[in-house]
Amino acid sequence: MATILIDLDGTLIPLSAWRPIFIELCEKIAEETGVRPEEVWRRARQKNLELLRALDWKAFDWQEIFTEVAREFGLSQAPDIVVSLQRHLHTFALNEGAAEALVKLKEMGHRVEIATNGHARYQLPVIRRLGLDRLVDGVRTSDTYQCPKTCPEYFKNADVIIGDNPVFDVYFPKKHGLITVFYGDWKKESIEHSQRMSIDLTTTEPDAVVNTLRDIPDVVERLLEKKTAFPM
Ligand SMILES: [Mg+2]
Repeated sequence: MATILIDLDGTLIPLSAWRPIFIELCEKIAEETGVRPEEVWRRARQKNLELLRALDWKAFDWQEIFTEVAREFGLSQAPDIVVSLQRHLHTFALNEGAAEALVKLKEMGHRVEIATNGHARYQLPVIRRLGLDRLVDGVRTSDTYQCPKTCPEYFKNADVIIGDNPVFDVYFPKKHGLITVFYGDWKKESIEHSQRMSIDLTTTEPDAVVNTLRDIPDVVERLLEKKTAFPM
């Protein structure tokens, strides 16, 4: 039995799921301050990227980020992101094959945990809404460890990680000895994220790449067998 970590945003659900919430927040702040919503988003994204590059878990505290932006425009606070999330939760859906992959991994006898850089207060409502809490054995969020998917505590007792982010789902987990399965276009994404994060990924390779979530159980099984046959 192995412990398998699987990413949420961009893996189990589309990366675009949060878009309507961010748009709503930007529009509300724009409305109250007279600036363009695009400018609100530019500032929020800039703060998020600065914190991301510093590998700070607060890069994922969107309430704090939007509050800082709102204050820069003279407001005392930003709209409540969790309230906005509740309004849009019905639009959230799983990526094709997500539930089937989780069920199969569990049937194979593995411990399966969702591993997200997002904070619990934003991610747990989504996880419950989609019924993922009934399909997995646990949820790891960056606020619990006060570090994103970068530090040893986050990856403790885990054997495999599956995700769509070259830095957080491949580069750092590999440093901590995990088997990594990348979901998506590795070549394209690794170039983009390497530039975004100023991290050299040229010598980093995931152990496997999948383009569909359905392939995950077989790929994980094959990689775990290989590890048992050739322990390194
Ligand atoms: Mg992701």
